[in-house]
Amino acid sequence: MSAVETQVKSFMEGLEARNPHEPEFHQAAHEVAESVMGWYLDHDAYTQAQILERVSEPDRIISFRVVWEDDQGKPHVQKAYRVQFNKALGPYKGGLRFHRTVNQSVLKFLGFEQIFKNSLTGLPMGGGKGGSNFDPRGKSDREVMRFCQSLMLELSRHIGADLDVPAGDIGVGAREIGYLFGAYTRIRNEWTGVLTGKGLGWGGSNIRTEATGYGCVYFTEKMLEQHGDSIEGKRVAISGSGNVAIYGAERAMLDGAKIVTLSDSGGFVHIPDGLTQEQLAAVKDLKEVRRGRISELADQFDGITYHAGSRPWGVDCDVAMPCATQNELDASDAEKLIKSGVRAVAEGANMPTTAEAIELFQKHDVLMAPGKASNAGGVATSGLEMSQNSLRLSWSREEVDQRLRGIMETIHTSCVEYGSGSGNVDYVKGANIAGFKKVADAMLAFGLT
Ligand code: GLU
Repeated sequence: MSAVETQVKSFMEGLEARNPHEPEFHQAAHEVAESVMGWYLDHDAYTQAQILERVSEPDRIISFRVVWEDDQGKPHVQKAYRVQFNKALGPYKGGLRFHRTVNQSVLKFLGFEQIFKNSLTGLPMGGGKGGSNFDPRGKSDREVMRFCQSLMLELSRHIGADLDVPAGDIGVGAREIGYLFGAYTRIRNEWTGVLTGKGLGWGGSNIRTEATGYGCVYFTEKMLEQHGDSIEGKRVAISGSGNVAIYGAERAMLDGAKIVTLSDSGGFVHIPDGLTQEQLAAVKDLKEVRRGRISELADQFDGITYHAGSRPWGVDCDVAMPCATQNELDASDAEKLIKSGVRAVAEGANMPTTAEAIELFQKHDVLMAPGKASNAGGVATSGLEMSQNSLRLSWSREEVDQRLRGIMETIHTSCVEYGSGSGNVDYVKGANIAGFKKVADAMLAFGLT
């Protein structure tokens, strides 16, 4: 075992002992430790100050009970959390996830990733994440409203425009942000940029809705360009059909690519000829307005087939964009994609690719963009929303889109700077080192805090 491997092993043993039964958090921490350790050991100032150990311990975790009443008058109790992970670079920033799988391990992995993702954007944002095991699916608007109001009654004590600024994530979209923001302004009697992802008429930013998906495509384009290729004419397999997937598809289509799949937790749709504008509009209506299932798309249009219970990774494609959830693309999926000749994988979701699958892609020269780089456009535009709220100004679509492109380009350049070697750029290593370094420098400057 090399010196680097020995250090990763001993770091992980300590982390796992301190954080038992948190597999998702272990996975995210292992990826960062493996990427940065060689470089970290070469920089005495960081190792002596124990930056890696310190950055993997959250500043604090707030855990609380949320009681809400359903439409039949029956009370329910949920768990909710806010993980305030690191504020070296700015106020805690990161989304809220409402999903039945939410637990402390999932939120710690997301909060940890968020530290380095936010650092990569170059904007002044620390890392945090929160959420609840409440599942908005199948709930009425009024039930969701009562849940959001009850959650905010507690959360409002712990957040603030200069302290912690939540946003959306899985299960938290425009509707939930509206209820949460309404509750916050009522409880605190103040109107501040305490949440991002707000409606355009009340403090939201242009392009925020599109930003994660658009940013992921901008990053993919840079990555392909760096390796002498382009997205034009490429067949793109996308998983998911939420906000990231929809706007990833929209941007890739605008730039000349063909979208061959979309999915949800029930299965995937195969569109061998590529999604049309009319079909994309139908997906938006289905998912954003009617809150239906992706299978309905196959009922609605000829030439689209639905595959219940499977993931899209078995279809022929040139680019894969996993935009659904963590660990949705494993080693067997990676083998199928490699066999079909996939050129690049760009994570639109957080940690959708398992460690084994990443290793396979890299071994087979598939370009691999980690979420903390390729999906950073969402939180970057949240950062721009915070700037506009502070300025009490609103920038045009063109202006925000221009800034988003610039940020994705800068992130790509940082990855190339720290991830270049022989052959393809190692984007996982590049993103982790570049993201880590900025946080580490701030923590060093602050002394022992
Ligand atoms: N949930 C998104 C993410 O994973 C966005 C967070 C935000 O805008 O604060 O980065």
